This record gives sequence, structure tokens and C-alpha cells, in this order.
Amino acid sequence: MFASSYNKRKYKKVCIIEANSRIGEKIKISGGGKCNITNELLSSENYLGDRNFLEELFRTFSKDDLLKFLNKNNVFPTLDPRLTKGTYFCKSSNDVISMFSLLTKTVKKYLNTNVLDIDFSGHFKIHTQNQTIEAKKVILASGGLSYSKLNASSIAYDIAEKFGHSIIKCEPALVGLTVQKEQFWFKNLSGLSVMVDVFVKESAKENKKVEGSLLFTHKGCSGPVILTSSLYWKKGKITIDFLPKKNINNFLKGNKKISSALPLPKRFIQEFLVSINLEDKAVSSLNREEKEKLKILKHYEFSPAGNFGFSKAEVTRGGINTDEINHRTFESLKQKNLYFIGECLDITGELGGFNFQFAFSSAYSCAKNL
Ligand SMILES: Cc1cc2nc3c(=O)[nH]c(=O)nc-3n(C[C@H](O)[C@H](O)[C@H](O)COP(=O)(O)OP(=O)(O)OC[C@H]3O[C@@H](n4cnc5c(N)ncnc54)[C@H](O)[C@@H]3O)c2cc1C
Repeated sequence: MFASSYNKRKYKKVCIIEANSRIGEKIKISGGGKCNITNELLSSENYLGDRNFLEELFRTFSKDDLLKFLNKNNVFPTLDPRLTKGTYFCKSSNDVISMFSLLTKTVKKYLNTNVLDIDFSGHFKIHTQNQTIEAKKVILASGGLSYSKLNASSIAYDIAEKFGHSIIKCEPALVGLTVQKEQFWFKNLSGLSVMVDVFVKESAKENKKVEGSLLFTHKGCSGPVILTSSLYWKKGKITIDFLPKKNINNFLKGNKKISSALPLPKRFIQEFLVSINLEDKAVSSLNREEKEKLKILKHYEFSPAGNFGFSKAEVTRGGINTDEINHRTFESLKQKNLYFIGECLDITGELGGFNFQFAFSSAYSCAKNL
């Protein structure tokens, strides 16, 4: 959270108020410690939220602008699309934190300081557990509700509501999905990964296709493809193609057993066969009905029970309604000199560096216009 502080004589002093003992704790753990900072394939299509707003924003500060800014500050992310297409990872998340530490060296920081409330009477009064800080302008960059162990709080939403903003329901996203008892066989595969396509309802009319690796876990399923699918999944069914880009009929010939004939891990096929009550036998001996049962692998449909919750979610879907924010300056349309940027807004990206890109783009656009 940032506040440009109120001071009658020297009018442009900036301070940072942060609940943690150091800045950038979320950056530290991101991307497995290597901060997946942006994505080569950046587009508004990778986000939930107002896509026109995003297109305008990325024209102001694109992924190339972000990479240029990082390079200028001695951070050199490289393309590493192993898990998710187009991803740029840093050598270490610490590089990004060091960059911010250097860039904010002369900025007054209130660390271990929790903002509890903000009032306005001609200027802002920011109440913390220790003191009240006065400011002309306040920028809330306090993130969402996910990962509470890193001091996440609802402060941005509370303050936005207090000043008359509407909040789109906040829910965990980029998170694993739990399963109902028909899919408990997933749990027996805990630790196993397979490449799949997932189809999830993005809107009443359209299905979103997400490609990537699915990880079975003791709670259900996770992995990059499920994390991104969780952004779009609300309630109801998702469909998994366990044999993406493959014609299953090509594997249902010959004398091999099913578990050897299908190009999937043996352990997976064996659990799957138990779940559909089919014996592992030679594919040549399968009757039509049994072949049809196997073809479910191309469109395995199920309703997840829920998700792993805010404590495990990488981001928060929903947030402050962007219709009530100036799209160029990020100033509140309800309260002058109050700004909201980053994850607290109702813009949420897929897995792959899209959330940091939005945080940087919104911060740049806001700062440029301050
Ligand atoms: C495990 C994990 C891995 C991730 N990996 C990636 C990745 O590789 N790539 C990617 O694009 N995104 C990733 N994300 C998402 C990304 O970290 C966030 O979307 C991004 O950090 C949002 O930036 P922000 O500045 O809006 O909020 P945050 O980075 O969450 O920062 C908000 C800050 O405000 C502080 N704060 C909150 N409440 C208060 C209060 N009341 N008083 C004072 N301070 C307060 C918090 O301590 C925090 O430091 C990951 C998230 C998690 C949890």
C-alpha cells in the first residue's frame, strides 16, 4: 500500500505502508521463487474483467514496456514456456525485490504496519496500529484475500466500500479443485501429472479451452491447467480431454491390454478402469459398449465439489468494480485523490505472468498521471 504523504511545506513526499517486515513478499514466493513476471502472448483474452479497459491499459504499458523497464533496472527475465505457454521467468524473485528496494531507497517505509482504516476530511487520515499518517493522495495496492499467511487483508475492499464503491464478489482463483465421490479415484493418483485439455464455461454461451499439465492431488486436482480453469469455473461441469490431439480409435486396435495400448501412464489407466468398472483386457476383445466407455477419456465430464480455498489460491477473482475507476489514472470516480491498482480491482489473469503484468501496467498508468 502506498500513500503520498500530506505535508503543507514540502508537498510531494511519498511513503509506503506495508504490513510485512519487508516489501515484495508475494514476489518472493511467486513462480516457485523465480517470479513469472509476464507473458509473451499477453492479451486481454487472458483475463476475467473488463477487456476493453485492459486493451487500453496494455497500449499504455505493454509486456515489452515491462521487459524494457526491468532490463533497464538489471532484471533480465527469459522465456521459459515449459509449464505454461509464453511465460517469462526471472533468474530469481530476489532480483525483482532488490530492484524495488533500490528504486524505493529514499522513500519512507512504514514496515510491520497494518492499515486499519482511512478517513477523509479535506485530506486523508490513514489509521494504523501505531499512528495516524496524513496524506493528500492515497494509492491502495493492497492486493486480494489470497494467501492470508502473507498478511493479505480486505482493506482495499473495505475502504472502497466506505467511499461508495461496489465490489464484485471475491472468490479464490488460480487454485486446485476438490472432487466429489465419483472422482475420488483422482486421489489414488496423487503426485501424477498428465497433459490434458480442459473445457470450462467462460460465459453462458462460450466454453474456454485451457491446455496444459494436470496434477492429481490428495484433495482432487491441480497443476497449471486446473489453476487457469479455476479462474473461469463457477459452478457446474468441466470437461477434460485426457488424450488431447489424439484419436482414441487409433489405439483401440491390436492385442495389447488397454493399459498398454493407450498413451497414458499405466497407473492412470488402471484407476480409470476401476472407476468405469472395466477390466484391463486386450483391446481386441472389447465390445462396442466397452469401447464407448473408454472414449469417455476424450470428454471426461464432472462437477468439481469446490476449490482448495483462499489459503491456497494464488489470486482473488472479483474485486473493486472497474466501472467506478478512471481507466487512465486509476483514480476513484467516487473520491478524488484516492486510487486503486493491482489485484484489488475486478481484473484477474490466468496463470502465466498475467497478474504481475496487470499489477505493473496499472501501477505505471497511475503513477504517470499522478
Ligand atoms: C504462491 C503465489 C505465486 C504467485 N506467482 C505468480 C507469478 O509467478 N506470476 C504472476 O503474474 N502472479 C503470481 N501470483 C499472483 C501475484 O503475486 C499477485 O497477483 C500480485 O502480487 C498482485 O500485486 P498487488 O500489488 O496488487 O498485491 P500484492 O502483491 O498482494 O501486495 C499487496 C501488499 O499489501 C500489503 N497489505 C495488505 N493489507 C494491508 C494492510 N491492511 N496494511 C498494510 N499493508 C497491507 C500486503 O502485505 C502486500 O505486501 C502468485 C501469487 C501467489 C500467492
